[in-house]
Amino acid sequence: MKAQTWQNWGGNVKARPSKFKKPKTIEKLRSHLSKAAKKGQVARVVGSGHSWTRLCKTDDLLLSLDNLAGIESINKESGIVSVYAGTKLKDFNAALFENGLAMENLGDIDVQSLAGAISTGTHGTGISFGNLGTQVTELTLMKADGEILVCSETENHDIFKAAQVSLGALGVILKYKVKCLPAYKLHFIEKKESVEDCLDNLYEHIYSNRNFEFYWFPYTDVTQLKISNTTEQEVKDNSMVNYVVNDVLLENVLFGGMARMAKYVSMANKAVAKISGAAVSEGEKVNWSHKVYATPRWVKFNEMEYNIPLANFKEAFLEIKSVFEDKQFKVHFPTENRFVKGDDIYLSPAYQRDSAYIAAHVFKGKEYRSYFDTLSAIFKNHQGRPHWGKMHFLSGEELRELYPKWDDFQQIRTMLDPQGMFLNPYLRKLFLVDKKVKTQVPVS
Ligand SMILES: Cc1cc2nc3c(=O)[nH]c(=O)nc-3n(C[C@H](O)[C@H](O)[C@H](O)COP(=O)(O)OP(=O)(O)OC[C@H]3O[C@@H](n4cnc5c(N)ncnc54)[C@H](O)[C@@H]3O)c2cc1C
Repeated sequence: MKAQTWQNWGGNVKARPSKFKKPKTIEKLRSHLSKAAKKGQVARVVGSGHSWTRLCKTDDLLLSLDNLAGIESINKESGIVSVYAGTKLKDFNAALFENGLAMENLGDIDVQSLAGAISTGTHGTGISFGNLGTQVTELTLMKADGEILVCSETENHDIFKAAQVSLGALGVILKYKVKCLPAYKLHFIEKKESVEDCLDNLYEHIYSNRNFEFYWFPYTDVTQLKISNTTEQEVKDNSMVNYVVNDVLLENVLFGGMARMAKYVSMANKAVAKISGAAVSEGEKVNWSHKVYATPRWVKFNEMEYNIPLANFKEAFLEIKSVFEDKQFKVHFPTENRFVKGDDIYLSPAYQRDSAYIAAHVFKGKEYRSYFDTLSAIFKNHQGRPHWGKMHFLSGEELRELYPKWDDFQQIRTMLDPQGMFLNPYLRKLFLVDKKVKTQVPVS
């Protein structure tokens, strides 16, 4: 394959790797790594390119595991499924469904690769569920020297805790074992509620529903609740019509059209946000879980998302709401507010805390920095940890302060990849690794 330009979904990260390889066998993958190691090159793996951060950018070797995909084995009794890491979530879900199984939880799209989504701590919503990495019971990775390592809660435990969210810095993940559930249906309801009621009822919403999140429309007092609970009801999803009108056309086309208008007429931002708030769709449907969680995203945007302790959510949310009283941001997308269970994964933003995630979006091409900076300052006061795949402006030093297991992760990284083959300049800076000596910079 000749050198070619690669870019991420958001279009904000571009690369021209000297080699872009999609190995069909493990042996071929090992040989690509070995050649790159001999030349002292960087190797990065890309999943579906749905991260905004420069995680996959390299001038050297870019690997895609699109050809190392699919299910290896299914144990229907235990629900443990062995799956190749390059598998896209939507293909995984379809294959699980054919076998009467389903993932425990998902985010709002399903086009990512399993390894890409898991490696950045991708999450859905629901306080009983951790990010996707918590569904993994075992993983297999290829180290820089080509050796294959299996890790789990009981085997190479520390490496497992580091590899459940690894940013592709420990090696190439080849396979996962994922704990799945018997296929289930969800009764999904979306409805409007005032900000005041939503905050008053917040803990009830969070704890009495399987999956709960809400959107808040800037410049308004309107929230849109999105609630899902398991059900035995028949599938009742007129949504091929409703869905196309509400979820796809309204959210993507009309909303996208209005957003484009607001891009050129800055006063229109507030109006667009208010119209979107007024047009909030209400309705319900029953369908199999994987058909409920994910929706297509046709409108391109830039996104920042932070994890904060659940206990800080109301205060942080009200601080965010109040900045719109003083400032005119070019923002009309709602903030997305989700709730996730704490975990024990070293670089998981939800490490050791039940969490709220607040996501802010800005239409692609519009100025986002002033909005994101203002929100970052709020998140900083609430021990905010950014989503690894979404825009943030924190330094390695700041990140190290936020993660109690930061140094443990770095030690494991150095042990597995002493030459720093999997570190591109972005990760070197983030992990405070010196460019020339290729060893960890001592940090006090
Ligand atoms: C429209 C949109 C909606 C989104 N919705 C959500 C959401 O609901 N919840 C949420 O939490 N996030 C969400 N995200 C963020 C997204 O889930 C993450 O950025 C995720 O990492 C993207 O997966 P990917 O397959 O595209 O990975 P990429 O962006 O391609 O890669 C991500 C990281 O994984 C590493 N990687 C990939 N494959 C391997 C491998 N085999 N071995 C080792 N490392 C590997 C890469 O090197 C990189 O560090 C969304 C993003 C977009 C653009």
